[in-house]
Amino acid sequence: MSSTADVPADVPVEEFAARARAWLAENMPPADPTAGHFFFTDTSSRSDDHDLVRIDTCRRLQRLLHDGGFAGICVAPEYGGQGLTPAHQAAFNRELRGFDHPIEIQASTFIPCMAVLLEFGTEEQKLRHIPPMLKGEAIWAQLLSEPSGGSDAAGALTTATRDGDQWILNGSKIWTTGAWYSDWAMCLARTNWEVEKHRGLTVFALPLRTPGLEIHRIELLNGSVEFCQEFLTDVVVDDRDRIGDVDGGWTVMTRWLHHERTISGGSPYVTSTGRSHNAPNDGPRLAAVARELGTVDDPRALEIIGEARALTLVSDALVSSVTRKMQTGELPFHAAAMSRLFSGTSQVRKAALALELTGADGVMWEPGDDQRAGVGQSWLVRQAACIGGGTTEMARNVIAERLLGMPREARRDDGAFRDVPKGPR
Ligand SMILES: Cc1cc2nc3c(=O)[nH]c(=O)nc-3n(C[C@H](O)[C@H](O)[C@H](O)COP(=O)(O)OP(=O)(O)OC[C@H]3O[C@@H](n4cnc5c(N)ncnc54)[C@H](O)[C@@H]3O)c2cc1C
Repeated sequence: MSSTADVPADVPVEEFAARARAWLAENMPPADPTAGHFFFTDTSSRSDDHDLVRIDTCRRLQRLLHDGGFAGICVAPEYGGQGLTPAHQAAFNRELRGFDHPIEIQASTFIPCMAVLLEFGTEEQKLRHIPPMLKGEAIWAQLLSEPSGGSDAAGALTTATRDGDQWILNGSKIWTTGAWYSDWAMCLARTNWEVEKHRGLTVFALPLRTPGLEIHRIELLNGSVEFCQEFLTDVVVDDRDRIGDVDGGWTVMTRWLHHERTISGGSPYVTSTGRSHNAPNDGPRLAAVARELGTVDDPRALEIIGEARALTLVSDALVSSVTRKMQTGELPFHAAAMSRLFSGTSQVRKAALALELTGADGVMWEPGDDQRAGVGQSWLVRQAACIGGGTTEMARNVIAERLLGMPREARRDDGAFRDVPKGPR
């Protein structure tokens, strides 16, 4: 296998892209349309082993990128990265089209977990955790949402109590993507109940196979079992795995949530073409479906295909413009909420358009008919696009309050968090 690990730090983007093109052609397998995204699709017809094979493939592909000198393109060399710029990462992502790549492990491993470690981790934590991430040896999950609610992250009830050099964690986290096959997690916990809610939180890193941590799978309406709920009972975490200051977790969270919002695109830490291998609702796929159904000349079908294509183009343009402006400082980092909002709402719209195009064919399909199954299943879970990575309602709040300077939402939860009423009234 050829390696470009000796790329100089000032290599021009075009030269880097040319090296990447040659390396990808020689080393990376072509995109496999049957592999792709297994998230939130019906798993009743396949076993966990099937998904674990894909996860192993992702680990292998990530290792291949690493050994070729293309993992962590924007990460400093001392942590196993290439020390280049977001423009180099973006160029690599463009070259990646048509090749298989470890898309399923980009979130949550690289965003938000690696991004948060880079900003808040100690030198020892970065040296210990980032190289295994970049080599595909450690997949990370994020333990943030709780059964009591996910939008109000600062209202976390999972508690960490100090015991010398260790912390004892108790509580429950939910809606964790892929915890059942992940190795490590970043976890938000309450360390102080006597102060206002944002001031009593701390972030920890913890291995997911550890005494006291139970992982349960959650089955969704469409048969997917990727989501997990975790129950933490006296889970011991070393203080050396605390990320950021004690009770300073909200400072970490602000950036954690920002990196999570870049799930819509534009993160300098994600290696991906920006699309799942088998995104069912983009214009070209819908055109293929319409051809198969014999409706491609129908005026309404053409409108649907055109609208789906336009939504994708606008979303891509918005992400790239917002990302560029955040990098140059023209927009504050909260602007990622704009990309997140448009990407969520346009995905829901595209799912509805796809179902309108297919009609009854999108709700019933023969086993193995991935094209139509993709339409029906993505319609069933369409709302997830407006929830995962923080809801679109919360993105609207960020845009209104942080970008447009509108008045903050009224709060009724100041004072010591212990005294704030919780749960249903
Ligand atoms: C695909 C996907 C992947 C996910 N992966 C993870 C993961 O890996 N780890 C993890 O921890 N969580 C994950 N989640 C959970 C996700 O972060 C939460 O579902 C989300 O933050 C919302 O929390 P909630 O479901 O508890 O809804 P709630 O917070 O209870 O909100 C309910 C509704 O009220 C609205 N709402 C709440 N507060 C406000 C407000 N102040 N203003 C306006 N509207 C408001 C919300 O927008 C929502 O519509 C994932 C979710 C999805 C769909």
